[in-house]
Amino acid sequence: MTKRDYYEVLGVSKTADDKEIKSAFRRLAKQYHPDLNKDPDAPEKFKEVQEAYEVLSDPNKRKTYDQYGHAAFDQNGNAQGFGGFNGGFSSFGFDDIDLSDILSGVFGGGFNFGGSSSKSKGNRAQKGNDVLYEMKLSFLEAVYGCTKDLTLDVYETCNKCDGKGGHGEKTCPKCHGSGTVTEESRTMFGSFVSKATCTQCGGKGKTYNEICSECRGSGRVKKRKTISVTVPAGVATGQQIRIKEKGEAGINGGPNGDVYVEFKVEEHQIFKRDGNDIYMELPINIVEATLGCKKEVPLMKESIILNIPEGTQNLDKHRIKGKGVPFVNSSRVGDLYIIIKVVIPTKLDKKQRELFNELSKTNLDDNSDFINKFKKFFRR
Ligand SMILES: [Zn+2]
Ligand SMILES: [Zn+2]
Repeated sequence: MTKRDYYEVLGVSKTADDKEIKSAFRRLAKQYHPDLNKDPDAPEKFKEVQEAYEVLSDPNKRKTYDQYGHAAFDQNGNAQGFGGFNGGFSSFGFDDIDLSDILSGVFGGGFNFGGSSSKSKGNRAQKGNDVLYEMKLSFLEAVYGCTKDLTLDVYETCNKCDGKGGHGEKTCPKCHGSGTVTEESRTMFGSFVSKATCTQCGGKGKTYNEICSECRGSGRVKKRKTISVTVPAGVATGQQIRIKEKGEAGINGGPNGDVYVEFKVEEHQIFKRDGNDIYMELPINIVEATLGCKKEVPLMKESIILNIPEGTQNLDKHRIKGKGVPFVNSSRVGDLYIIIKVVIPTKLDKKQRELFNELSKTNLDDNSDFINKFKKFFRR
């Protein structure tokens, strides 16, 4: 079987940049993904696309491929130092997606990552795949924590066959229950005996009179389920929490995978966050700034009365201790800063204009450092 050129597989030119390659992959992965495309050729096509992307998206592998072609990636080919890469392809199952970061965009949120391939590996118990989901939070939900439902599409143990994959269990006639078959091959150097996983039972050593119609023998079915997530106070965009064993069902009695929830926090119109501190602006007029005043300021949870001293300057900062964002899983809380914005009036009525004119005749204090520097500069 000859392999198709990777560039041809993705339908891009040899000079395509990362962006073109990525978008071609997204489009084709969606087109051929076996969950979406029931064509019998789809799994093979999907695998081909995945393989091409695996190589072309990695600058080093792409360079090697450009230079040596497929030979560089031959299964037995004295690897050009790719480590587990060669074996990687063959273990891709179609019900797990290894290129999860890319595919998350294609399949809308949920995807598998980490964990091991869910392809049957005999009757060894395996942990189910972990899944990562994104959860959007409002600004205040993130600050104070909340409880939210999350809908997941994950593989669960099939109820109909109890995860066995069939009904009417019997010992596999091909391997007689061992799960492996030995094959003898004769060559001019003698005969060799090799062991291989039994193809009839997939290494389980058992087969069934009747394959389960619900899960088509896999023992697992994709199900939509809702779990309740307790979001701790103080989380930020990009942070993750792990919910143990709520991910995909394990295989052969292995534990379930975990669910990772990554948060995406919305911005707030008034409150801006910097780590665990909050910044907000408070507009006051020039009279309030000059004479000082008391102002009621609504914070995130409660209101406070802020004492604004006489002679307050634009951008003066007031620190309110402990009214910021809690540190996750800690009793520490950040601070809240109120930044004063002195607003200069843009419309004056007749009376106000007279008062300002009156004021201008007086000797207003302008002994600020800034003005003094200018005075010195012009005096030279
Ligand atoms: Zn079943
Ligand atoms: Zn067998």
